[in-house]
Amino acid sequence: MDASKYDEALAALRDARDEELKQLDDEMADSLASLRNHLLVIGSITFSATVLGGFWLVRLGLSPLRRLSDAVSRISVKDFRLGFDNQRTPRELAPIAERLAETLGLLKRAFAREKQAAADISHELRTPLAALLTTIDVTLRKQRSPEDYREALADCRASGQQMNQLVERLLALARLDAGVDVLRPQSVDASELAEQCASLVRPLAEARGLELRFHRNGPAVLQADPAKLREVVTNLLHNAIQYNRPKGTVDLSVARNNGSLEVEVKDTGIGISTEARQHIFERFFRADPARSADGLHAGLGLAIVKGYVDLMGGTIAVESAEGQGSTFRVRLPAA
Ligand code: ADP
Repeated sequence: MDASKYDEALAALRDARDEELKQLDDEMADSLASLRNHLLVIGSITFSATVLGGFWLVRLGLSPLRRLSDAVSRISVKDFRLGFDNQRTPRELAPIAERLAETLGLLKRAFAREKQAAADISHELRTPLAALLTTIDVTLRKQRSPEDYREALADCRASGQQMNQLVERLLALARLDAGVDVLRPQSVDASELAEQCASLVRPLAEARGLELRFHRNGPAVLQADPAKLREVVTNLLHNAIQYNRPKGTVDLSVARNNGSLEVEVKDTGIGISTEARQHIFERFFRADPARSADGLHAGLGLAIVKGYVDLMGGTIAVESAEGQGSTFRVRLPAA
């Protein structure tokens, strides 16, 4: 082969190779573009699926919270129930729902107590108020002698005192509730203080044919609020007289035992049933409302006693046998 033919053949081969290379290049570019498109589509689908899945998972996870929030928004002063199915609650949320239901139960009882207290207060005030108005109406019906007017005024005063006592007791309880009733401790001889209380109520006991005995066990000096201690002892003595039997006795003793002060009021009265004993420290509770229908015994005395004993860091306990009598025992820290 001569040289010119050889060059031609070489050029033809080069052209063919270039053509092939170009074709290969184009094919590769096409494949890469198609791969990029595929990757883009797959990426978009994966991203969308992740977003949607995550959103769905979060919604699923939050759905018990949403149900709980719906249940909470359905609560009202008329219905304290938490309408929430605890069976379908995740373990993490169950204690919250339980605690919420407990708190609602407490709120419900507090609301019921408030409502009952308003009804009880109105009921207790109605008796002396009616007596007061009747006395005034009857007295005003005609001209009367000065003695009649004096008598009528004395009756009005008694009704006023009764209402005043009730209001004072309600205020004492309100102060205890609000936590504004502070103790004013000072050095007190509890024996001496109790003896003074006994002397004060003895005429009342004697008027009912009862013997009131005071048992002194030496001085019992402690740091205490004398006004509160006096209120506690006097209330217990009044009850021991009020719920006693004719010719019965009331024994009051004070002693210091192992760093604590013990005040005991023992009576020979009607006693308190086991059932009533669970409630005697509740406001407006009376074991026998008919017995204390005089309006002076509204069932607040022991609630105040318990409130003051608690405030002083002490305890109160009662032992009783029906038809035989009751013993109230107050223990206060002597320090
Ligand atoms: P009240 O003003 O009615 O006496 P309290 O709170 O002092 O109220 O007492 C509540 C109730 O507890 C009384 O109504 C009575 O039924 C009962 N009670 C209290 N003390 C005695 C007692 N010493 N003997 C028998 N029952 C008592």
